[in-house]
Amino acid sequence: MSLPNSADVMGVGTPRDLIVAIGAGADMFDCVLPTRNARNGQALTRSGRVVIKQARYKDDPRPIDPACACACCVEGYSRAYLRHLYLAGEILVLRLLSLHNLHLYGELVAGAREAIRARSPTGESSFRHRSSAAPRPISQPTASCRAPIAATSASG
Ligand SMILES: [Zn+2]
Repeated sequence: MSLPNSADVMGVGTPRDLIVAIGAGADMFDCVLPTRNARNGQALTRSGRVVIKQARYKDDPRPIDPACACACCVEGYSRAYLRHLYLAGEILVLRLLSLHNLHLYGELVAGAREAIRARSPTGESSFRHRSSAAPRPISQPTASCRAPIAATSASG
């Protein structure tokens, strides 16, 4: 559902894409990336992706992101256990990774909102400032981020 005069963006995207789009004036987003990536065993963090099926996490007792406040990370689900669930085909891991990824997006947008209120033009500085790890882009902005953002009307 669009709000009158809102700038909606479909299919965007990575955390970096969202920041770029917000900086360009986007108000609302609709994208499957956080849950689709979770279904493929990928957790997104402020410092990059955690591909939970990788062997390097076999004995890793850490949560996906020790700085994350989502239920998955706070409740202590280790990377090793999540990897086990993924390889065993347990649907719980898909829910936990989705929960984590959506929490990250919620925090990202909340940070952008704070930055806008503080008159920062993009919100990017707020996102980077709160990052616990060395800044590293998750991906380059996609072409859809560079496209003009269409404002929707109340009738549309
Ligand atoms: Zn988390």
